[in-house]
Amino acid sequence: MSVVLITGASRGIGAACALAFAREGYDVAINYCRSEEKANQLVTEIKALGARAFAVCADVGDSAQVKEMFEAVRRELGSVDVLVNNAGIAHTGLLTDLTDDEWKRLIDTDLSGTFYCCREALKDMILAHSGAIVNIASMWGEVGASCEAAYSAAKAGVIGLTKALAKEVGPSGICINAVSPGVIMTDMMAEYTDDDLAALKEETPLNALGTPGDIADAVVFLASTKAKFITGQVLGVNGGIVI
Ligand code: NAP
Repeated sequence: MSVVLITGASRGIGAACALAFAREGYDVAINYCRSEEKANQLVTEIKALGARAFAVCADVGDSAQVKEMFEAVRRELGSVDVLVNNAGIAHTGLLTDLTDDEWKRLIDTDLSGTFYCCREALKDMILAHSGAIVNIASMWGEVGASCEAAYSAAKAGVIGLTKALAKEVGPSGICINAVSPGVIMTDMMAEYTDDDLAALKEETPLNALGTPGDIADAVVFLASTKAKFITGQVLGVNGGIVI
Protein backbone atom coordinates (compact mmCIF):
# COMPACT_ATOMS: atom_id res chain seq x y z
CA MET A 1 0.00 0.00 0.00
CA SER A 2 1.42 3.44 -0.90
CA VAL A 3 1.76 6.14 1.74
CA VAL A 4 1.02 9.80 1.04
CA LEU A 5 1.89 12.68 3.37
CA ILE A 6 -0.06 15.86 2.79
CA THR A 7 0.99 19.00 4.63
CA GLY A 8 -1.73 21.39 5.78
CA ALA A 9 -4.37 18.71 5.31
CA SER A 10 -6.69 19.74 8.13
CA ARG A 11 -8.73 22.06 5.91
CA GLY A 12 -9.32 23.27 2.35
CA ILE A 13 -7.29 21.91 -0.54
CA GLY A 14 -5.16 19.65 1.68
CA ALA A 15 -8.22 17.97 3.19
CA ALA A 16 -9.70 17.40 -0.29
CA CYS A 17 -6.38 15.84 -1.38
CA ALA A 18 -6.39 13.54 1.68
CA LEU A 19 -9.86 12.24 0.82
CA ALA A 20 -9.01 11.85 -2.87
CA PHE A 21 -5.87 9.81 -2.11
CA ALA A 22 -7.79 7.65 0.39
CA ARG A 23 -10.38 6.89 -2.31
CA GLU A 24 -7.47 5.74 -4.54
CA GLY A 25 -6.37 3.30 -1.83
CA TYR A 26 -3.45 5.22 -0.32
CA ASP A 27 -2.66 5.28 3.40
CA VAL A 28 -2.77 8.95 4.36
CA ALA A 29 -0.69 11.02 6.78
CA ILE A 30 -2.50 14.26 7.56
CA ASN A 31 -0.27 17.08 8.73
CA TYR A 32 -1.85 19.98 10.62
CA CYS A 33 -0.54 22.89 12.63
CA ARG A 34 -3.42 24.39 14.65
CA SER A 35 -6.63 22.60 13.54
CA GLU A 36 -6.24 19.40 15.57
CA GLU A 37 -9.95 18.67 15.82
CA LYS A 38 -10.50 18.99 12.06
CA ALA A 39 -7.48 16.76 11.38
CA ASN A 40 -8.83 14.10 13.74
CA GLN A 41 -12.29 14.28 12.12
CA LEU A 42 -10.66 13.71 8.74
CA VAL A 43 -8.78 10.68 10.09
CA THR A 44 -12.11 9.18 11.18
CA GLU A 45 -13.65 9.93 7.76
CA ILE A 46 -10.71 8.32 5.92
CA LYS A 47 -10.67 5.24 8.13
CA ALA A 48 -14.36 4.79 7.28
CA LEU A 49 -13.26 4.56 3.62
CA GLY A 50 -11.06 1.60 4.58
CA ALA A 51 -7.67 3.34 4.37
CA ARG A 52 -5.17 3.83 7.16
CA ALA A 53 -4.88 7.44 8.31
CA PHE A 54 -2.76 9.28 10.83
CA ALA A 55 -2.82 12.93 11.96
CA VAL A 56 0.53 14.51 12.75
CA CYS A 57 1.10 17.98 14.18
CA ALA A 58 4.03 20.02 12.86
CA ASP A 59 4.76 23.56 11.81
CA VAL A 60 6.29 23.00 8.39
CA GLY A 61 8.32 26.19 8.79
CA ASP A 62 10.35 24.54 11.57
CA SER A 63 12.88 22.02 10.24
CA ALA A 64 13.16 20.14 13.56
CA GLN A 65 9.37 19.63 13.67
CA VAL A 66 9.41 18.46 10.04
CA LYS A 67 12.10 15.88 10.85
CA GLU A 68 10.03 14.59 13.79
CA MET A 69 6.91 14.49 11.61
CA PHE A 70 8.61 12.22 9.04
CA GLU A 71 9.89 9.95 11.82
CA ALA A 72 6.35 9.68 13.24
CA VAL A 73 4.89 8.90 9.80
CA ARG A 74 7.56 6.23 9.14
CA ARG A 75 6.74 4.60 12.50
CA GLU A 76 2.97 4.76 12.00
CA LEU A 77 2.45 4.09 8.25
CA GLY A 78 5.90 3.41 6.71
CA SER A 79 8.09 5.53 4.44
CA VAL A 80 6.48 8.23 2.34
CA ASP A 81 5.92 7.34 -1.34
CA VAL A 82 4.09 10.55 -2.25
CA LEU A 83 4.56 13.97 -0.66
CA VAL A 84 2.13 16.84 -1.24
CA ASN A 85 3.51 20.18 -0.07
CA ASN A 86 0.25 22.05 0.41
CA ALA A 87 0.55 23.93 3.75
CA GLY A 88 0.46 27.64 3.14
CA ILE A 89 -0.58 31.02 4.42
CA ALA A 90 -1.31 34.26 2.59
CA HIS A 91 -0.80 37.90 3.51
CA THR A 92 -2.43 40.90 1.88
CA GLY A 93 -1.05 44.42 2.23
CA LEU A 94 1.38 46.95 0.80
CA LEU A 95 5.00 45.81 0.71
CA THR A 96 5.97 49.03 2.47
CA ASP A 97 3.81 47.97 5.46
CA LEU A 98 5.11 44.39 5.59
CA THR A 99 7.12 43.72 8.77
CA ASP A 100 10.22 41.52 8.96
CA ASP A 101 8.24 39.01 11.04
CA GLU A 102 5.33 38.84 8.54
CA TRP A 103 7.77 38.35 5.64
CA LYS A 104 9.72 35.69 7.54
CA ARG A 105 6.61 33.77 8.66
CA LEU A 106 5.25 33.62 5.12
CA ILE A 107 8.54 32.57 3.52
CA ASP A 108 9.16 30.02 6.32
CA THR A 109 5.73 28.42 5.83
CA ASP A 110 5.21 28.59 2.07
CA LEU A 111 8.77 28.16 0.76
CA SER A 112 11.11 26.84 3.48
CA GLY A 113 8.42 24.35 4.57
CA THR A 114 8.41 22.91 1.07
CA PHE A 115 12.21 22.64 1.12
CA TYR A 116 12.31 20.97 4.58
CA CYS A 117 9.64 18.40 3.60
CA CYS A 118 11.26 17.63 0.23
CA ARG A 119 14.62 17.11 1.98
CA GLU A 120 13.15 14.60 4.42
CA ALA A 121 11.00 12.75 1.87
CA LEU A 122 13.86 12.42 -0.61
CA LYS A 123 15.98 10.44 1.87
CA ASP A 124 13.58 7.48 1.54
CA MET A 125 12.59 8.12 -2.09
CA ILE A 126 16.21 8.08 -3.31
CA LEU A 127 16.81 4.77 -1.50
CA ALA A 128 13.61 3.35 -3.03
CA HIS A 129 14.50 4.80 -6.45
CA SER A 130 10.88 5.94 -6.80
CA GLY A 131 8.46 8.51 -5.48
CA ALA A 132 6.45 11.56 -6.40
CA ILE A 133 6.27 15.06 -4.97
CA VAL A 134 3.53 17.54 -5.82
CA ASN A 135 4.02 21.12 -4.66
CA ILE A 136 1.07 23.49 -4.42
CA ALA A 137 2.16 26.78 -5.97
CA SER A 138 -0.22 29.58 -7.04
CA MET A 139 -1.06 31.56 -10.15
CA TRP A 140 0.37 34.54 -8.22
CA GLY A 141 3.75 32.79 -8.22
CA GLU A 142 3.54 32.79 -12.02
CA VAL A 143 2.28 36.31 -12.70
CA GLY A 144 2.58 38.23 -9.38
CA ALA A 145 -0.23 39.79 -7.35
CA SER A 146 -0.39 43.40 -6.24
CA CYS A 147 -0.40 43.61 -2.42
CA GLU A 148 0.69 39.96 -2.16
CA ALA A 149 4.40 40.39 -2.85
CA ALA A 150 5.68 38.01 -0.16
CA TYR A 151 3.16 35.35 -1.17
CA SER A 152 4.00 35.78 -4.87
CA ALA A 153 7.73 35.57 -4.11
CA ALA A 154 7.30 32.43 -1.99
CA LYS A 155 5.19 30.70 -4.64
CA ALA A 156 7.60 31.71 -7.44
CA GLY A 157 10.28 30.13 -5.23
CA VAL A 158 8.22 26.93 -5.00
CA ILE A 159 8.05 26.83 -8.81
CA GLY A 160 11.84 27.33 -9.12
CA LEU A 161 12.47 24.66 -6.49
CA THR A 162 10.17 22.24 -8.33
CA LYS A 163 11.96 22.71 -11.66
CA ALA A 164 15.48 22.47 -10.19
CA LEU A 165 14.68 19.44 -8.06
CA ALA A 166 13.04 17.65 -11.00
CA LYS A 167 16.40 17.81 -12.79
CA GLU A 168 18.31 16.76 -9.67
CA VAL A 169 16.20 13.75 -8.66
CA GLY A 170 14.85 12.57 -12.02
CA PRO A 171 17.83 10.19 -12.39
CA SER A 172 16.75 8.69 -9.04
CA GLY A 173 13.34 7.77 -10.48
CA ILE A 174 11.46 10.56 -8.68
CA CYS A 175 8.93 12.87 -10.32
CA ILE A 176 8.31 16.33 -8.89
CA ASN A 177 5.71 18.72 -10.24
CA ALA A 178 3.69 21.72 -9.12
CA VAL A 179 -0.02 22.43 -9.29
CA SER A 180 -0.73 26.12 -9.62
CA PRO A 181 -4.29 26.87 -8.48
CA GLY A 182 -6.37 29.84 -9.56
CA VAL A 183 -9.14 31.07 -7.27
CA ILE A 184 -10.29 28.17 -5.09
CA MET A 185 -13.06 28.56 -2.55
CA THR A 186 -11.47 27.83 0.84
CA ASP A 187 -10.90 29.70 4.12
CA MET A 188 -7.96 31.41 2.39
CA MET A 189 -10.47 33.41 0.33
CA ALA A 190 -12.41 34.55 3.44
CA GLU A 191 -11.01 38.10 3.23
CA TYR A 192 -12.38 38.58 -0.29
CA THR A 193 -15.72 40.37 -0.58
CA ASP A 194 -18.58 39.03 -2.70
CA ASP A 195 -17.78 41.79 -5.22
CA ASP A 196 -14.10 40.70 -5.37
CA LEU A 197 -15.17 37.10 -5.95
CA ALA A 198 -17.71 38.07 -8.62
CA ALA A 199 -15.00 40.07 -10.43
CA LEU A 200 -12.56 37.15 -10.27
CA LYS A 201 -15.25 34.80 -11.57
CA GLU A 202 -15.97 37.13 -14.47
CA GLU A 203 -12.23 37.32 -15.29
CA THR A 204 -12.10 33.51 -15.45
CA PRO A 205 -12.80 32.17 -18.96
CA LEU A 206 -14.68 29.15 -17.57
CA ASN A 207 -16.80 31.65 -15.57
CA ALA A 208 -16.46 29.74 -12.30
CA LEU A 209 -14.43 29.68 -9.11
CA GLY A 210 -12.55 26.48 -8.35
CA THR A 211 -13.22 23.90 -5.66
CA PRO A 212 -10.66 22.07 -3.50
CA GLY A 213 -11.69 18.89 -5.34
CA ASP A 214 -10.57 20.43 -8.66
CA ILE A 215 -7.04 20.74 -7.25
CA ALA A 216 -7.12 17.32 -5.57
CA ASP A 217 -7.95 15.62 -8.90
CA ALA A 218 -4.87 17.19 -10.53
CA VAL A 219 -2.64 16.32 -7.57
CA VAL A 220 -3.73 12.67 -7.53
CA PHE A 221 -3.10 12.45 -11.28
CA LEU A 222 0.42 13.91 -11.00
CA ALA A 223 1.25 11.45 -8.21
CA SER A 224 -0.01 8.47 -10.20
CA THR A 225 1.73 6.21 -12.71
CA LYS A 226 -0.43 7.85 -15.41
CA ALA A 227 1.93 10.84 -14.99
CA LYS A 228 5.14 8.79 -14.90
CA PHE A 229 6.73 10.74 -17.81
CA ILE A 230 5.80 14.15 -16.38
CA THR A 231 8.29 15.98 -14.19
CA GLY A 232 9.34 19.58 -13.53
CA GLN A 233 6.00 20.90 -14.81
CA VAL A 234 3.65 23.52 -13.44
CA LEU A 235 0.04 22.53 -14.06
CA GLY A 236 -2.30 25.50 -13.91
CA VAL A 237 -5.71 24.52 -12.50
CA ASN A 238 -7.33 27.90 -12.77
CA GLY A 239 -10.31 27.93 -15.15
CA GLY A 240 -8.14 29.77 -17.67
CA ILE A 241 -7.63 32.95 -15.60
CA VAL A 242 -3.88 32.62 -16.28
CA ILE A 243 -2.88 31.17 -19.64
P1 NAP B 1 -6.59 27.09 3.90
O1 NAP B 1 -7.98 26.61 3.72
O2 NAP B 1 -6.31 28.38 4.60
O3 NAP B 1 -5.76 25.90 4.59
C1 NAP B 1 -4.40 26.08 4.88
C2 NAP B 1 -3.85 24.80 5.45
O4 NAP B 1 -2.45 25.01 5.69
C3 NAP B 1 -4.49 24.42 6.78
O5 NAP B 1 -4.68 23.02 6.81
C4 NAP B 1 -3.43 24.84 7.80
O6 NAP B 1 -3.40 24.00 8.94
C5 NAP B 1 -2.16 24.61 7.02
N1 NAP B 1 -1.04 25.39 7.55
C6 NAP B 1 -0.89 26.73 7.64
N2 NAP B 1 0.28 27.03 8.21
C7 NAP B 1 0.89 25.85 8.48
C8 NAP B 1 2.14 25.49 9.06
N3 NAP B 1 3.01 26.42 9.47
N4 NAP B 1 2.44 24.18 9.20
C9 NAP B 1 1.57 23.21 8.78
N5 NAP B 1 0.37 23.50 8.22
C10 NAP B 1 0.05 24.80 8.08
O7 NAP B 1 -5.86 27.26 2.49
P2 NAP B 1 -6.09 26.53 1.08
O8 NAP B 1 -6.80 27.48 0.22
O9 NAP B 1 -6.57 25.16 1.25
O10 NAP B 1 -4.57 26.53 0.58
C11 NAP B 1 -3.79 25.36 0.44
C12 NAP B 1 -2.61 25.67 -0.45
O11 NAP B 1 -3.09 26.11 -1.73
C13 NAP B 1 -1.73 26.82 0.07
O12 NAP B 1 -0.38 26.52 -0.20
C14 NAP B 1 -2.17 28.00 -0.75
O13 NAP B 1 -1.18 28.97 -0.86
C15 NAP B 1 -2.48 27.34 -2.08
N6 NAP B 1 -3.37 28.12 -2.95
C16 NAP B 1 -4.67 28.38 -2.58
C17 NAP B 1 -5.47 29.14 -3.44
C18 NAP B 1 -6.91 29.47 -3.11
O14 NAP B 1 -7.52 30.22 -3.89
N7 NAP B 1 -7.50 28.96 -2.05
C19 NAP B 1 -4.95 29.62 -4.64
C20 NAP B 1 -3.63 29.34 -4.97
C21 NAP B 1 -2.86 28.56 -4.12
P3 NAP B 1 -3.98 24.40 10.41
O15 NAP B 1 -5.35 24.96 10.22
O16 NAP B 1 -3.96 23.07 11.11
O17 NAP B 1 -3.00 25.36 10.99
